[in-house]
Amino acid sequence: MTGLPTISGDRGLDHEEQPIFELGRAGVSGVDLPDMKVGDSRLAGQRRRAPVGLPGLSEPEVVRHYVRLSRMNYAIDAGLYPLGSCTMKHNPRLNEKLARLPGFADLHPLAPQSAAQGALALIAELMRWLTTLTGMPAVAMSPKAGAHGELCGILTIRAALIARGEKRTHVLVPESAHGTNPATAAFAGFQVEEVKATADGRVDMDSLKSKLGPDTAAFMLTNPNTCGLFERDMLEIADLVHKVGAYFYCDGANFNAIAGRVRPGDLGIDAMHINLHKTFSTPHGGGGPGAGPVVLSERLAPFAPLPLLVHDASGFRLIEDRGAVPAGAQPFGRMCAFHGQMGMFVRALAYMLSHGRDGVRQASEDAVLSANYVLASLKDVMSAPFEGPCMHEALFDDHFLHDTGVSTLDVAKALIDEGYHPMTVYFPLVVHGAMLIEPTESESKESLDRFIHVLKTLAGEVKAGRRERFEGAPRLAPRRRLDETAASRKPVLRWTPKELPKAAE
Ligand SMILES: *Cc1c(COP(=O)(O)O)cnc(C)c1O
Repeated sequence: MTGLPTISGDRGLDHEEQPIFELGRAGVSGVDLPDMKVGDSRLAGQRRRAPVGLPGLSEPEVVRHYVRLSRMNYAIDAGLYPLGSCTMKHNPRLNEKLARLPGFADLHPLAPQSAAQGALALIAELMRWLTTLTGMPAVAMSPKAGAHGELCGILTIRAALIARGEKRTHVLVPESAHGTNPATAAFAGFQVEEVKATADGRVDMDSLKSKLGPDTAAFMLTNPNTCGLFERDMLEIADLVHKVGAYFYCDGANFNAIAGRVRPGDLGIDAMHINLHKTFSTPHGGGGPGAGPVVLSERLAPFAPLPLLVHDASGFRLIEDRGAVPAGAQPFGRMCAFHGQMGMFVRALAYMLSHGRDGVRQASEDAVLSANYVLASLKDVMSAPFEGPCMHEALFDDHFLHDTGVSTLDVAKALIDEGYHPMTVYFPLVVHGAMLIEPTESESKESLDRFIHVLKTLAGEVKAGRRERFEGAPRLAPRRRLDETAASRKPVLRWTPKELPKAAE
């Protein structure tokens, strides 16, 4: 490559792109609308006094803008996406096809229930799958993401405590927990207390016992946990938690490792959210829609939020208000305006029905197999903090980088130059310089081998003292390494166009 800059500012097929608000021009529109004469319409009196300030572009300009942006991005449809804890797996196109059926896609949330019987039947069927796979008697469908599901679960627990006439103040969370767990507990008004981890990456039972008491409202545990390990002491933990009168919340974001194999209901869990957008392959990332249904134990089921879906002689019915609930139900309130993310429900059920129960189980087993293949292939060239096999994700630490001048962040950035989205880095916090790789079941062995080869070669170069690929990486991405702190604290959202060079006379 020569250092000669291009005339256009673009680099080959790599295009620069300005923010759309800077591209727009006043008076330009993608559609021709007839001039509106005052008095033409009922809305005439409501006319805006000033322009609304939307960017004005033609249709091809809009299309190009978003296509160019999409080419700067990375997606599961572009390549292996090993972002640990996020379960970035293939979204089967069959799911998309079904979600686009007009009866589901065009259904208005305020349509009369008599006209939405098919959609309600689909939700009921999805509920049956979720309760069967988890061995839990009830499920609240409305939460719109994992974190929202956590909030739903904790508010259900709070309602159950209030109904018991108890004011418990503390929620226990392991130090390896996903940040949303303590955030949820604090948001719901509880004090958060940390439970220590053992040297083998699991809950320290002595630490748990010392923290459990009459003030404990709940213990929130992720299983498989964020170190990619199965918590072996679940039954004993459930017992201890229940003995002090508290509830056992499970963060089920990692359900992809155990779906069809382990029923959380058999482990003494009282509430668990399931990320449909992880385990059941509905698209996610980039802030797209998610769905986080919460399965509930017998003890918590009465406190599930509105709306409640019931089936009687007249068909399916959503109960929207407290006055109309069946005897015994004491819903704590509601999580959101409607019943949840219909499109995600359709996709998740399509995934379940096309896989079948045995297929769901096979997917989990393959996800665990893929992760162990990565772990076994790399543990001697990189370094792994824990002994033995993992669940759905392989965790490495930065021991192999000590005194090399290369950091976990450098390895992640070098992976970008190799055409991969980086793994999750510096999480979980209990492992120094953590690198968390979740390959999922949807990668072929060839794809895993290629990824392993890249990481092996990078680790080999670190060992040989060669740092060229790491210094200043990424060099081949649309953007070089950002100052991440400044980028979040003082974002520069304006693009300064470079002066176009003058053509030679
Ligand atoms: C993804 C994840 C969450 C949060 O789920 P969102 O849908 O992103 O809100 C919570 N806990 C764990 C362990 C996760 O991996």
